[in-house]
Amino acid sequence: MSTDGGAGAKPLIIAIDGPAAAGKGTLARRLAAHFGLPYLDTGLLYRAVARRVLDAGRDPADQEAAAAAARALTAGDLGRDDLRTAAVDRAASMVAGQALVRAALLAFQRRFAQREGAVLDGRDIGTVVLPEAPVKLFVTATLAARAARRWRERGADPADLAAITADLAARDADDAARAIAPLRPAADAVMLDSSALDADEVFAAALAIIARRGWGCGRGSR
Ligand code: C5P
Repeated sequence: MSTDGGAGAKPLIIAIDGPAAAGKGTLARRLAAHFGLPYLDTGLLYRAVARRVLDAGRDPADQEAAAAAARALTAGDLGRDDLRTAAVDRAASMVAGQALVRAALLAFQRRFAQREGAVLDGRDIGTVVLPEAPVKLFVTATLAARAARRWRERGADPADLAAITADLAARDADDAARAIAPLRPAADAVMLDSSALDADEVFAAALAIIARRGWGCGRGSR
């Protein structure tokens, strides 16, 4: 399989970072299917921690409560269908700024990637979680393009677009400004601006970048 034969003997690990609603998840799922790799949406980890904290009636800013939730996380928590609400968006960003939470989630993410290669998306995959990943993409889009996408995904009222835009801007600012594992491209990441591209075009651009790194263009090839 291409995932352990391309560009030398190492498994293919694709690290995808970028701000919220830039199209990372869609791209990551397609790349994972294409290369036959497992996929981990690391934002779900922070969302699930936030959900546990909120369900316990605790404050997401409470570092002890958030750390305990992170240590207690189970696979079942990640499968919940209530992880993408506006309240969880905000709480996830709050718990994600805490060192104890990030420390509790780090080893799991590394093990996930290193078993057989993987595609992971998040904010710090190329910089902190997997700095040795052979392929790093930083997917961006304008705030307006990202807000319009999120608004369409959530089937929201037209009046909600302004609130969604403000929420995304605030979350990105928090993610980029935090002291620990801030949102930023790794020095060796390739930038991919998805503002004017549809999902097929983003996928094609990513495949071209990955091919330039020496990995084959499909299952079973180099
Ligand atoms: O990607 P998603 O929007 O689901 O992530 C939710 C939140 O989790 C982000 O706003 C960010 O604060 C945090 N996160 C993170 N590091 C990651 C993935 C997500 O800090 N690798």
